[in-house]
Parts: sequence; structure tokens; C-alpha cells
Amino acid sequence: MHSQKKKIVTKFGGSSLANAEQFRKVKDIIGRNPARIYVVPSAPGRRFSGDDKVTDLLYRCYNLCREHQDFEETFDKIRARYQEIASELELTVDLDRELNHIHDKIAGGADADYCASRGEYLNGLLLADFLSWRFMDAEKVIFFKGDGTFDSEKTNVVMMALLADEQPTVVPGFYGVKPDGRVHTFSRGGSDITGAIVARAVSADAYENWTDVSGFLMADPRIVSNPREISRITYAELRELSYMGATVLHEDAMFPVHKVGIPTVILNTNHPEHPGTLISLTLPTDPVEPTITGVAGHQGFSVVAIEKAMMNSEIGFGRKVLQIFEECNISFEHMPSGIDSLSVVVSGEALAPHREEIVRRIAEEVAPDTLTIHDHMSIIATVGRGMVNNCGTAARLFSAMSRNGINVRMIDQGSSELSIIVGVDDADFEKTIRAIYAEFVG
Ligand code: ASP
Repeated sequence: MHSQKKKIVTKFGGSSLANAEQFRKVKDIIGRNPARIYVVPSAPGRRFSGDDKVTDLLYRCYNLCREHQDFEETFDKIRARYQEIASELELTVDLDRELNHIHDKIAGGADADYCASRGEYLNGLLLADFLSWRFMDAEKVIFFKGDGTFDSEKTNVVMMALLADEQPTVVPGFYGVKPDGRVHTFSRGGSDITGAIVARAVSADAYENWTDVSGFLMADPRIVSNPREISRITYAELRELSYMGATVLHEDAMFPVHKVGIPTVILNTNHPEHPGTLISLTLPTDPVEPTITGVAGHQGFSVVAIEKAMMNSEIGFGRKVLQIFEECNISFEHMPSGIDSLSVVVSGEALAPHREEIVRRIAEEVAPDTLTIHDHMSIIATVGRGMVNNCGTAARLFSAMSRNGINVRMIDQGSSELSIIVGVDDADFEKTIRAIYAEFVG
């Protein structure tokens, strides 16, 4: 039977569990809400700037060992990190035995994934001890296929069954197991993904992702000073912003929870009273919020602009152009088109080695009237679910740009009406972001 009890999955990032003091904060946060019954920890992160992350130290041990070099000094640093936490918190787990075992496995040539995964494994053991909760090794509940891709179906079935008793449980992040019994990890930052997977399996009411920032910001703080925090954002908006480089959460972490409509909340372990950012499937547009949700961008694109009279009636024109890029293994970012024009926006770096080939093949295969390449372009996305209902948004955006003397080189409005994308010269990148932010947020 499905219980009516509220369930929250909390994931704590590396800096949230970097030392004993942070462990205490985590316990306090968990204790404040009885619905928080599943915890997914990362490995201990940096305690101060310039400090090591335990995961980096573990990869270093692996690399040293592979090159037949001494890894003792590095391993001692790892040992000291865990011992300090365990002794300050007076934990009873047999840490020495665990550390010695891991040490011997590394010395015996264990692979990179096994080595890296031990950061989360050990932190999970310590946290379970500190909370007096059950420890569920991720090897028992997170499955990968033989080719290393995540096996979501098997994971979901097994995890659902093993966590159905709703006993408070710690599941270490970042790793799982392959069919041959070997440990496998997600990509870096992958504990976010584990948290989302647990949330899906237990049908959580919310997935709380505790980190060291109070949620997402409307713009990059290196460009806009003191940008506002985003209090609520949809998964679709977040996807557009993260694609443009705004990152707090591992991108793949959104899918498991997004799929089943579980809201994610980004929260700050060091300021737990801050409401953070709520990410959910749908959200009403709020008249008191700014029209836009955020603005983000990237530099260094090239735009390949093609013009040809009557292009729109030539069947297969777009496909032929894109096929040329595909065959050069270049993925395109955007493709704004008009009646007689089509532009393909690609990374400048990716284009460089194939430039001549692409120009030659486009000329040969689609015989355009003109073909121009604009380099050093920035792409800036202004994202907001509120833009659909606000007919003046585009006009405001472009007049803000023109008031600031910025030349718009390209425009693309996503078909979802969730974003307006502009291309400007790299030299105008920051100015554009500041102008758009000032116009909509102030
Ligand atoms: N510890 C892993 C890393 O540093 C995974 C994580 O923290 O999410 O990438």
C-alpha cells in the first residue's frame, strides 16, 4: 500500500559535508523536517578555497598508482579528512578497516571509477553512523548497463522495493554497479543524479538539493553586480538557461524528477532559512515577478549565413546544409531562417578545422547566392515563461539593446516562446547581458 506520509529526498553537496561542522549543520537541517527520510551525500568537498576535494585526491591516487608512483602521501590526506570528521563526531564505524581495505584495492590496481566512488561510499558510512540511519550501498540500488549507460528501469524497480519500508536511509551519490559487478560512476558532479533517481523511486514529494549557494541567480554575478535570485523556475526554463552555461545542478539530474513531476528545490546548507530556488514542471506567471526568469549566454560562436532566392521552395535545402555539418561532426546550436536565408550557428572552435571544406561543399551542393561567415559571435538567451503573455517583451529587449548601441546580428525566438535568442559581437557580450537585465529587472 502506498503511504500518505510526506517524503523528501535531500542531497548534500561536497562543501555541505566537507568537515564535522558541516555534518552538524546537515543533521540539524534533516532534523527540522520529519519528511526528510532519504539522504544522498557527496564526498567531502573543499573546506576553504585552494583545499582539495576528496574525489580529486582519489583520482590522484589512482593515477599515481597506475604510473607506479607512490600514492601514500595523497592517501594519507584522504585518511586524515575522514578521521577528523569521525573523531570530532565520535563515530563508531570501523573507519580504519574501511580505509585500509580501500588502500589495498587501490594498491592492487583498482580502476578509476572504483577509486573515485569511495569518496561518497565513506562519507555515506559516516553520515549514516552520525544520524543512526540505515546505510544502503549504491551498488545495491543503482544499476548501469554493460556499456556504462544508466539502467533506469532496473534501478527503479530494485530501489523502489528496497526503500519501500520508508526507513530513514543514506544512499551515497555518484556511483552504482555494472552487470559484471564492477563499480561505475556518473560523470563529475553526479551525486545530483543519484538524488534525483532516489526521489523518483520513492515518489518523493520534493527533491531538496543542498549546496553552498542560495539557488539560481538571474544572471552571472561576474557580469551583473548583485543579480536577483530566481525564486521559482520551470524545468523547461532551467534547461534553456543551463544550456547557456548557468550551472548549479548537474544537467542530467533534472530528467528523473522532471519526468514524474517532482519539484526540486535548491537550498543553501549555510543559510538554511533562505527559500532558495524551486524548480517545477509548471508554474503560474507571477505578476509581481519580473517578466524574464533569467539571462545567460556564451561567447565564441560562428554564424554561417546562407542566402538564396526562392530557397523556401527548394525541398531538401535545409537538410543538405545540415548534412554537410553532420558529416564534419559539428553539432549546430541554432538555425534561424527567413524566406530566402538560413543561418547555422556553430561553435567557432568546432568550425575552425573544417571551415574550408564546409564553404566548398555548401557552394557545390546548394549553390547559394551568398555565403558569409561571421566569427566571434555571442549568443544570449533571455528566458522566461512570462514572456508569452507579455506582447511587448521583444520590443523592450531590442530597444534596450539599441539604446545601448548594440548591434543585433541575429535573432531566434524559440518555438516554445520561452526564450528570445540574440546574436551579438563578442565585444558586446557583457554589455548586452547588462542591458537586458537592467531593462527587465532594474
Ligand atoms: N564527488 C563527485 C565529484 O566531485 C560527485 C559529486 O560530488 O557529485 O564529482
